[in-house]
Amino acid sequence: MSVLIKGGTIVTSTGRYIADVYADGHKIKTIGKDLDYPADDIVDASGKYVLPGAIDPHTHISMPFMGTSAQDDYETGTIAAACGGVTTVVDFDLQQKGESLLEAIERKQSWAAGKVAVDYSLHPAVMDPRPEVIAEVKKAVLDYGTPSFKIFMVYDFRVDDATMIKLLEETKKYGGLVQVHAENVYIIQHMNELLEAQGKLSPYYHAVSRPNIAEEEAVARAAKMVELTGSRIYIVHLSSKEGLAKVKEARDNGIDVFAETCPQYLLLDEERYNEPDFGGAKYVMSPPLRTKESNEALWGGLNSGDLQVVATDHCPFDFKGKKDMFGKDDYKKIPNGAPGIETLLMLLHSEGVVKGRISLERMVDVLSTGTARMFGLKDKGEVAVGKDADLVIFDPDQKFSITQSKLHMNIDYTPFEGLEISGMPMAVYSRGKRVAEWNGDQMTFVGQVGRGKFIKREPFEGF
Ligand SMILES: [Zn+2]
Repeated sequence: MSVLIKGGTIVTSTGRYIADVYADGHKIKTIGKDLDYPADDIVDASGKYVLPGAIDPHTHISMPFMGTSAQDDYETGTIAAACGGVTTVVDFDLQQKGESLLEAIERKQSWAAGKVAVDYSLHPAVMDPRPEVIAEVKKAVLDYGTPSFKIFMVYDFRVDDATMIKLLEETKKYGGLVQVHAENVYIIQHMNELLEAQGKLSPYYHAVSRPNIAEEEAVARAAKMVELTGSRIYIVHLSSKEGLAKVKEARDNGIDVFAETCPQYLLLDEERYNEPDFGGAKYVMSPPLRTKESNEALWGGLNSGDLQVVATDHCPFDFKGKKDMFGKDDYKKIPNGAPGIETLLMLLHSEGVVKGRISLERMVDVLSTGTARMFGLKDKGEVAVGKDADLVIFDPDQKFSITQSKLHMNIDYTPFEGLEISGMPMAVYSRGKRVAEWNGDQMTFVGQVGRGKFIKREPFEGF
């Protein structure tokens, strides 16, 4: 299978230029002017961008949570990814009590086997930090190809600060990266009790129960553990201006704190929790949506480099029958999470680049090149000779009105319903094979379920 993409504007994290791209046998083989090779698939890309496929390093495929399960499995989730121009997914893999990290990885690989439509990798989440599990970090980094480890500072499966310190020490030795969900659990418990006593239990109070300072305190504490150990940490789904200020403060002091944010924290605010007919439940996720002030601060963080990655935290639960049932009388019972994997690239381009909030090159960095570097995906994230031919031919002028019926995620709503988009993928390639294309109205999956493979990642090499 060979592909020749003619005359497109190739975008990297540092610039753009017009050239042809030739890919054969999974890899980008040649980039140059007026390439004239025979190819199975020849595309005229003049007036279009040629982007590296986006990487989503924060998904919860089939995750059991709050009495139900996130609805996308590896098949529906990676088909939706392909249709959105996401060609690599790094999914969370929650270790169960008694499991080794390897058992957790093999369990999730067995769920993915034969079902993935694009390439994927896993981040083990350490939830049962027995000494032998901490000792397994070395193997996970060097042998299993999973050098990043998620921990939670909230939920009943959280780890304590002592475990965080041990993991930071262990990952520092071998080139691992700890990823942390940073919210202070005791602030949230306290707020939950106060709100419960006042009978304030509608979806809006989900946001009130998890104030910005809960994130701010946890980010600051995690940063101090990094200062103590000389290790490094990555804050997942940073949501608030105050949390960002703590990331920046640490970074300004030479402490290796990295962070991602998500489209929902850049584009939506807490007013959404007041949507009628219990519609606010659609936005119940943790951390919660904040204010416009935080939205703007986070765009600033992407531009300044204090935030390095945009991911989705894709974790879909239907509105009807799940969100609107479980938590009807109490926001605490609404399954936390929202869909996003398919809308990542279109939102960053239309709301970010077109509206002048970030440059096209910065978008490529935070969706692909920087993400690949952060997570040791050495063959991904760049349109360059020798890299995997994970490519998006992107038409910056194509209009699309976001609506759930034209998306592929296995859920009954999108938080971005009705948003008018400028710019959509025309064709998406995973290792040289076309997996999705624009059909004049919406994206269509044209790939092969089961062709995606598990990617062993490299240890962290600095950022
Ligand atoms: Zn998450």
